Amino acid sequence: MSLKKYTGSCHCGAVRYEADLDLSAGTSRCNCSFCRKVRNWSIIVKPESFHLLSGEESLNFYEFNTKSSKHHFCKNCGVRTFSKGYIEEIGGAFVSVAISTLDNADLKDIIEAPVWYADGLHNNWQNQPAEIRHL
Ligand SMILES: [Zn+2]
Repeated sequence: MSLKKYTGSCHCGAVRYEADLDLSAGTSRCNCSFCRKVRNWSIIVKPESFHLLSGEESLNFYEFNTKSSKHHFCKNCGVRTFSKGYIEEIGGAFVSVAISTLDNADLKDIIEAPVWYADGLHNNWQNQPAEIRHL
């Protein structure tokens, strides 16, 4: 357990956030229709561990299908920094922080972070899909 305070941002810098994360506790990739297209790699935390510092006015979000998540992106540069949602199977309300948008994480912490591949395509979050190389 090594909870650290991280900051992150979109590419143009309008959207900035801070989040208390423990990268060693695990990160996730997923094979659902959305995660596959954006090659999502994220870490899921409780909403109270995430704080938007700036850029509220620059954010838009995309929702689809079950509307279980709002995928926020910067209207200026298009970079997705986080998603917010509610999925009972993973413990209710959550924020999914895009690891690629962290600004002050040690590369070592990122490459050593365990990755859980979720079979989101089949709403089978507790199990890994048979194929993960394309994710
Ligand atoms: Zn931006």
